[in-house]
Amino acid sequence: MIKPLNNWFVTSPFGYRVHPITGENKLHNGIDLRATINTPIYSPANGFIEDVNYNSSGGNQIFVKHDNNYRTTYSHLESTTKNTNDRVIKGELIGFTGESGNVTAPHLHYTVKYNGVRIDPETVIYEDPYNIIGNYNFNNNLQPNFKKYAIWLLVLMGFSLTYILYKRKNV
Ligand SMILES: [Zn+2]
Repeated sequence: MIKPLNNWFVTSPFGYRVHPITGENKLHNGIDLRATINTPIYSPANGFIEDVNYNSSGGNQIFVKHDNNYRTTYSHLESTTKNTNDRVIKGELIGFTGESGNVTAPHLHYTVKYNGVRIDPETVIYEDPYNIIGNYNFNNNLQPNFKKYAIWLLVLMGFSLTYILYKRKNV
């Protein structure tokens, strides 16, 4: 799993709280992430879009069922880039944050379920997307290049050493 937003700043945690609009003490079933309107949202893992809908409280919403037994949802979106049943891969753009539905300011309401059980999205262990890219490059590009350069470096060192020894012998 990777984080769905590049900038991860939790403005409201998971758990019981007094709702800012209704005043009721109720379960906040996800977390609120700070996001200006039109911040890109990326799928945390491979999967498919289970539903895209609108309702007066959640606004524009996306429901994603991931292949790794996680389900994630995204609410108050400005727009979505996917339709129901679309396949998505990890890191793929699925929509943009906004302030649709029952909100006081633009943000992303993000929820996570694991094997059908709602969990605190902050307890998920997220991979660093930059490390994923780094590992990918290392395994697929850098390592063969490194080997190639290492061989040339050894050949060059061999020639240099031979030359130095030759010179010393002929002083
Ligand atoms: Zn929320």
